[in-house]
Amino acid sequence: MASVQEKVAGTENGSVSDSAGIAVENPATGQVIATVPDLSPQDVSRLAAQGRAAQPAWEALGFEGRARILLRAQKWMLDNVERVIETIVSETGKSYEDAQFAEISYGANALGFWAKNAPKYLEDEPVKSSSVFVKGKKLILRYRPLGLVGVIGPWNYPLSNSFGDCIPALAAGNSVILKPSEVTPLTSLLMGEMLAECGLPENVYQVATGRGETGAALVDEVDFIMFTGSTATGKKVMERAAQTITPVSLELGGKDPMIVLSDADVERAANLAAYYSMQNAGQTCISIERVYVEEPVYDEFVAKVTDKVKALRVGKPEGPGSVEVGAITFPPQMETIEAHVKDAVDKGAKVLTGGKQGAGPGRFYEPTVLVDVDHTMDCMTEETFGPTLPIMKVRDADEAVRLANDSPYGLAASVFSKDTERGQAVARRLEAGAVCVNDALINYSALELPMGGAKASGLGSRHGANGIRKYCSQQAILVSKLHMKNEMHMFPYKRGRTERLLKLFKFLWGRGKRD
Ligand code: NDP
Repeated sequence: MASVQEKVAGTENGSVSDSAGIAVENPATGQVIATVPDLSPQDVSRLAAQGRAAQPAWEALGFEGRARILLRAQKWMLDNVERVIETIVSETGKSYEDAQFAEISYGANALGFWAKNAPKYLEDEPVKSSSVFVKGKKLILRYRPLGLVGVIGPWNYPLSNSFGDCIPALAAGNSVILKPSEVTPLTSLLMGEMLAECGLPENVYQVATGRGETGAALVDEVDFIMFTGSTATGKKVMERAAQTITPVSLELGGKDPMIVLSDADVERAANLAAYYSMQNAGQTCISIERVYVEEPVYDEFVAKVTDKVKALRVGKPEGPGSVEVGAITFPPQMETIEAHVKDAVDKGAKVLTGGKQGAGPGRFYEPTVLVDVDHTMDCMTEETFGPTLPIMKVRDADEAVRLANDSPYGLAASVFSKDTERGQAVARRLEAGAVCVNDALINYSALELPMGGAKASGLGSRHGANGIRKYCSQQAILVSKLHMKNEMHMFPYKRGRTERLLKLFKFLWGRGKRD
């Protein structure tokens, strides 16, 4: 870490002194709060060499040794919670509570979860085989850390979706280079400080601050790329990784549908629609981005949601309880949000609340409810990633399912019905990596449950066994202890033995009638 942090000019006291670096802005005030270095491909190569040199000793610490440091970090995060939240809020402009719930609770939980569960997911697995040719031999599946893992993260959750993916990679025994979004690099650097204070050996976790080119250079250097970001950039990462046959896991964009069936608890559905579409100012990959409501409860649902959304306070976060909806973190995102609302209105949609930018000097958009929408409008088909909620009336569940699946994306979805069997039946018809019934998004906190997108929303997953095994190569080990000097299928080939082998095949696989 030191090598990178040494180059970070003025981040410790919040002043700006490195004009050649990347200025980090507080989106809720418009003020520059720090400058970080813009690392070149050569810098990334240097970090990679350092990371590779540090990895064997980290792996040699074993699960227990690594867990000790991760558990110390878990405690550090809570002991320093105000500083971590302040850092997240300062670079994202999100509300205090959005930083507390979706970032701190995720990070603190994940540090403990992977410390505890890494051995369970990665211990040697004895394997039984039905093959007669390996009878008496010992078969073992072993997971071995890949070496150097690259994590590339987005700006919406600098702790959960950037640092969060480093935790299982570290727990597995890899060293990691994290390339945070150029917009939100400070939390990743703070996590470096945390790990160093908790005893992580130098260069096991390094931060490569920079822009897109820095991320692209990282792809060339590592043994695995964990990428979270837009589908467009994900494609570029996959293409680049193909040049070195580097495996990738891609967590990409979404356009998550919510379906409200006529027998739903409308009050709960409305509360969740308002919260899970506007939380983090709608800048969550698994935000509710569009809603389909069965006709009989449409009016009631729309009225309730509109009331709840109207009551939300938007603006600069000033500590706990100050605002529900914070800033739009990434400047170009504002253009997308405005374009989607304008496109909808131009095509006949009605704005029930919001529909315009909030008061500055920071960057805010008023929480917005849209009705009379359809699939000719971008707000129903393209990721908006802002505090907007378009609601569409549907005849029945079949129409809702058809429209929900009418998307190139397939990240997550939700279905609301008091009949949970019916809700589950609808959930199973949705083309999405994760579906909640009478709930939304909270599945993300269950680290035992895989989370990964279908269709253009991604490749691979985080969490669950695959969330850590992907950072390892599988090694199959076969040990022969009791054996003959030579075996039947080996040299020299002789007619009699060949015929006996064929008889064995027929006995094993050729008996019985077939259709
Ligand atoms: P981007 O795709 O723009 O950027 C993601 C990261 O990739 C950033 O660190 C970026 O750097 C970097 N990058 C840019 N170009 C390249 C390149 N050619 N090679 C390698 N890395 C590159 O996404 P956003 O930051 O705008 O994040 C928002 C998106 O992330 C949304 O689509 C959202 O749905 C998705 N997302 C998905 C999640 C999931 O779990 N499925 C979770 C969270 C977000 P820089 O910022 O410096 O340009």
